[in-house]
Amino acid sequence: MSFDSLGLSAELLRAVHEQGYNEPTPIQIKAIPLILEGRDIMAGAQTGTGKTAGFTLPMLQLLNSRPVDSHKRPVRALVLTPTRELAAQVEQSVITYGRHLPLSSAVIFGGVKINPQIDKLRRGVDILVATPGRLLDHARQKTVDLSTVEMLVLDEADRMLDMGFIHDIRKIMALLPVKSERQNLLFSATFSNEIKKLSHQLLNHPELVEVARRNAPIELIEQLAHPVDKNRKREILSHMIGAGNWRQVLVFTRTKHGANRLAKQLVMDGLSATAIHGNKSQAARTRALADFKKGSVRVLVATDIAARGLDIDQLPHVVNYELPNVPEDYVHRIGRTGRAGNEGTAISLVSAEEQKLLRDIERLINREIPKQLLPGYETIGPVRQQPARGAENGRQGDRRNGRGKNTGNNSQPQGRNGQRRQNGRNQSAKPQSESAQSQTRNPSSNRNTPVRPGYSSLADRFMGSD
Ligand code: AMP
Repeated sequence: MSFDSLGLSAELLRAVHEQGYNEPTPIQIKAIPLILEGRDIMAGAQTGTGKTAGFTLPMLQLLNSRPVDSHKRPVRALVLTPTRELAAQVEQSVITYGRHLPLSSAVIFGGVKINPQIDKLRRGVDILVATPGRLLDHARQKTVDLSTVEMLVLDEADRMLDMGFIHDIRKIMALLPVKSERQNLLFSATFSNEIKKLSHQLLNHPELVEVARRNAPIELIEQLAHPVDKNRKREILSHMIGAGNWRQVLVFTRTKHGANRLAKQLVMDGLSATAIHGNKSQAARTRALADFKKGSVRVLVATDIAARGLDIDQLPHVVNYELPNVPEDYVHRIGRTGRAGNEGTAISLVSAEEQKLLRDIERLINREIPKQLLPGYETIGPVRQQPARGAENGRQGDRRNGRGKNTGNNSQPQGRNGQRRQNGRNQSAKPQSESAQSQTRNPSSNRNTPVRPGYSSLADRFMGSD
């Protein structure tokens, strides 16, 4: 299937070809003709599927085919996104795909000065991409008029709800023409009951468009979980990056503070790293992302919200330094790699107390994530026999193992003492000797190289569901 058969105009096809896209992606094949027909759609498409072009291209075509009389250029299309980064990326796509059309666009989000946005809105904007909070600020100041909106796009709607934007969305809806007088497009990676409820409120007899199995991670992503001692995660991560000679890795932590701390520690390990999260100024976030994209920063440590919408071509590695509390976030996180037909690896460092989170994720994605022990760094059996039920159990596990402290005090540059430590443990505990057996079974294991993707039956039993 080629782009030419989707009904797009010559100007848009030219822009698409200039981007080097040869074929439309499945979401584009399904969504573009429906949107061009004027239908409302509810699309289940994960990030990385090409969904942005899927709604931007037909939106540009429709707006261009219905020129307005007024030279004031009222806002005719509104795209709402959950994060600033995603808003910026969507507007960039509008600019890129609309480069041969006489349509104007603007992006507005918080964390930056409002006056340049006001100036831009005053000059006239056909397509407005916005995050909800700042858009409402403009509405309150009467610097934006949304009563002329013909097309509404809710991008990553599930995340908007997760982030508590439902009230803001309702307020914005009240500023738009009634739903039967606009075309409405909703994109969401998952279809929870809340999303379905929202869709009833926002959409007119929508066509359901789904391109990937719901909640399923992108097939091209190789997933792997390493059961590890939580006190040694940073050490393991530094080692993996160095030994694997990873040029670009996106690392997820659960908290902003954790992201800052990890980025600092990695810098102390000699890796160029920076953190991106909601407490950073917009300028710092933009700079961090730009540095990461151009390769001057090797490790970007991010929280879930900050990473939402990051579009980094050919990002080969994503690491879950800590598993997310919400299993759906795992899907969003690993969707940062494996984009646009590229392969990617998503590695999770799973401590004893995170085993339940891992099982929840596996249940959600309906598949087992291969487990691999890292010789010398794994957590041990007793925790498995008595699964952690929260932080306290986790702490007990650590004390019982005596692992974190001992190995930490002992810690020499990793790889050098791995075998010695391994042997030490083998003498004292059965699960450790099993771990040693699993190493022997896996010829790719050695002290200097993290075990490569594959399947360890011991690891499977170790992490398997109870
Ligand atoms: P998205 O899902 O919109 O975040 O898009 C993910 C990536 O796919 C972006 O880097 C796009 O530039 C790229 N992309 C979009 N459409 C195509 C296409 N038809 N062929 C190849 N890459 C594409």
